[in-house]
Amino acid sequence: MTTIYLKPKKEESLKRFHPWVFSGAISKVVLDAKHPGDAPEEGELVCVRSAANEPLGVGHWQVGSIAVRILAFGVEALPKDFWHERIRAAYQVREAIGLVRNQKTPNTQNDTYRLVHGEGDWLPGLIVDVYADTAVMQAHSVGMHVNRNEIAQALVDVVPQVKNVYYKSDDTLPFKANISEPKVGYLVESQKSKVESEEFWSVENGLQFRIDWLRGQKTGFFVDQRENRALVERYAKDKEVLNMFCYTGGFSLYALRGGAKTVDSVDVSQKAIDLVTVNVAKNFPKATNHTAVAADAFEYLTAQKNAGKTYDLIILDPPAFAKHRDAVKNALRGYQRINAKAIEMIRPGGILFTFSCSQAVDKEAFRLAVFSAAAQVGRKVRILHQLHQPQDHPINIYHPEGDYLKGLVLYVE
Ligand code: SAH
Repeated sequence: MTTIYLKPKKEESLKRFHPWVFSGAISKVVLDAKHPGDAPEEGELVCVRSAANEPLGVGHWQVGSIAVRILAFGVEALPKDFWHERIRAAYQVREAIGLVRNQKTPNTQNDTYRLVHGEGDWLPGLIVDVYADTAVMQAHSVGMHVNRNEIAQALVDVVPQVKNVYYKSDDTLPFKANISEPKVGYLVESQKSKVESEEFWSVENGLQFRIDWLRGQKTGFFVDQRENRALVERYAKDKEVLNMFCYTGGFSLYALRGGAKTVDSVDVSQKAIDLVTVNVAKNFPKATNHTAVAADAFEYLTAQKNAGKTYDLIILDPPAFAKHRDAVKNALRGYQRINAKAIEMIRPGGILFTFSCSQAVDKEAFRLAVFSAAAQVGRKVRILHQLHQPQDHPINIYHPEGDYLKGLVLYVE
């Protein structure tokens, strides 16, 4: 195995279990005698050692400023059953919090959850979401791509529910990486998937969702809003609700179940809007109080405001406005603009659920953007709840970068 030696004192963060080695911390790279090239291959397993030759861990080699993502600390090689053990550890957490469906926890109300949340499950670069019998897997690093078949095997061996593993990494692998194998497709398909025949349903908190990982965004669904959707359900009774950036209608279904008077679902994607309609019809076949509109958020809000429309409860869950640190300034302006438009349309005594899933925008900055929006439109606003990502998106305490979803529930006078 290739050995990466760190400069003196650069071992400190690894000893505190931070899983990244930055390229600037490396003093030399020593290739294995049998190594084919003259540099490590992106994605290969390397052993990291301190200047004093202590083994600090084994991880995936990467090209870029993060040079190694550590998989196992303090070892010289990965244990033989490493992938099975790690997936089992991740599964045990979801079992402990009651999200899975198996003999021990026969939860009939939920079979939709995140099984692997990257660094939060000590598997940097890997995301796995489970939808009923299918696990959808995304590699964010070439190393996870290289190990994809071992991971898929571990998923079907460890998780009783999982029969199929779909790999969906076309948008997530580093675009410069030289990968010739397919980045999408089934790695395991032991049971013909129902997604093609449009008979596939996954259950979240007792609500059924058609999830389309083949054509949908991310892994097919935004599992990270489960708890926040449940909170919308609590506040929805008799309210006129706008679910802006609704995707497949997660918040809309909860609002309908909570007894909303009306729910308007808006998203720019027509495909998403088609799925909202399917999902509402499946769960509330008799509902006449739901409308789904494909429209741009800014244009929709402006047009509605000009028409004098107001709402009791608005949900704003936009896509990440800042994908990188250098985009933060513009993102904050975007958050301010969209929140100002929404706050203006809330009736006195109404509620706004507003979110940011940009990892680069921290909690304080987001709050400041929302504060600026409230001040801009001159409304009195109080914070009722501060929301975040749910339990199946654990934050590794040594890797605070994993804390990405922020939400505020505001009472607007
Ligand atoms: N709230 C959703 C997830 C939202 S993801 C849920 O609970 O599942 C963000 C959504 O914003 C995507 O569906 C995307 O299609 C939509 N979107 C992106 N830009 C938009 C725009 N300018 N106007 C309206 N929707 C937009």
